[in-house]
Amino acid sequence: MSAFRKLDDLGDVSGKVALVRVDLNLPMRDGDVTDDTRIRAAAPTIRDLTEKGAKVLLLAHFGRPKGERSSTMSLSMVVGAVEEVIGKEVMFVPEIAGDVVAQAVGILRPGDVAILENSRFWKGEEKNDPEFAKAIAANGDFYVNDAFSAAHRAHATTEGLARLLPAYAGRSMQAELEALDKALGNPEKPVAAIVGGAKVSSKLDVLKHLVGQVDHLIIGGGMANTFLAAKGVDVGKSLCEHDLTGTANEILDAADKSGCTVHLPYDVVVAKEFAANPSSLRTCNVHEVAADEMILDVGPQAVEALGDVLKTCRTLVWNGPMGAFETEPFDMATVALARTAAALSKEGTLTSVAGGGDTVAALNHAGVAEDFSYISTAGGAFLEWMEGRELPGVAALAK
Ligand code: ADP
Ligand code: MG
Repeated sequence: MSAFRKLDDLGDVSGKVALVRVDLNLPMRDGDVTDDTRIRAAAPTIRDLTEKGAKVLLLAHFGRPKGERSSTMSLSMVVGAVEEVIGKEVMFVPEIAGDVVAQAVGILRPGDVAILENSRFWKGEEKNDPEFAKAIAANGDFYVNDAFSAAHRAHATTEGLARLLPAYAGRSMQAELEALDKALGNPEKPVAAIVGGAKVSSKLDVLKHLVGQVDHLIIGGGMANTFLAAKGVDVGKSLCEHDLTGTANEILDAADKSGCTVHLPYDVVVAKEFAANPSSLRTCNVHEVAADEMILDVGPQAVEALGDVLKTCRTLVWNGPMGAFETEPFDMATVALARTAAALSKEGTLTSVAGGGDTVAALNHAGVAEDFSYISTAGGAFLEWMEGRELPGVAALAK
């Protein structure tokens, strides 16, 4: 990761106008925000800038209005929730550029906050139209990006603006970039990666990238079945992408060449039907799965061995649950490994970084999310980073 500008690099911004890209794509029900995690993530940056006396204009997208105004996707809906988190009155501006925004800037006092309308109401946002970005930039003095979760998209408010104004990473963005750098950019070795989840096809590029980066690649979840099948194991009725066994073998070969040890389960938890605590539940060696059985979790012996692998490592990056954790007892491997990783992190021997929608849910379910070194809630951006791609929103902040 190249060096990037942060809020600590700001000079005197008293009375200056900050255009601050945040993530306000909040979960809502019946017009109410049901989870304010993303607002809380943006709060340190907003507070930092208001305390420095800047006028803060928040930029964000909400939903997929596809370049048209939509009354059900207006950011006016989130104003109350933002006020509650930052403990301050917030002005809503129903435009993103032009005179209306200029007038709002005139009314705002240093240290005040406003939310501009949903950036995706304008077609120029997703097209990263330079004219659109210029019109937004005209009302600001500098730009801050605090939305890592949107950094994999080169849109006007995530990338274009950084090209037009002095650009800085916000506090959340900074924390995310520093954590990710510790996990894969510049990690302490040995490094382990856990990759699980449903399908190999959704994470092919992740696997390909990781084999060249890590010392241990632990494959679990449904995707382990495809690798087992590639090795000639009969996985019965398990979720398995038989058309990808060739690709799985290529990944295993590449791992071999780069000195990466791939760990596949040797015992598994199987059942004939996918339900909670089914009567057909049993644990067996991977070579003993019957034709009418499904592999739904990694077995206890493999979990213990994997725990021992983690004990020898200094860094762990984790994406994807080890089993169908939403249904008991197929959460056992995920929960056990999560607890081991959390304990090692707490002791200080392991730097652990995890991300992915279901992964975060699984770690919360295991009750250990707070003990991980860093949990990314960024989804798509986290996965693209795990693929080793340069994220346009991050690249634009480079010094
Ligand atoms: P993330 O959102 O963290 O990137 P994924 O979406 O790739 O993770 O995968 C999560 C899903 O994988 C979960 O819904 C889980 O039930 C499923 N899964 C894990 N192991 C298995 C398995 N052995 N068989 C079927 N589904 C599985
Ligand atoms: Mg998912």
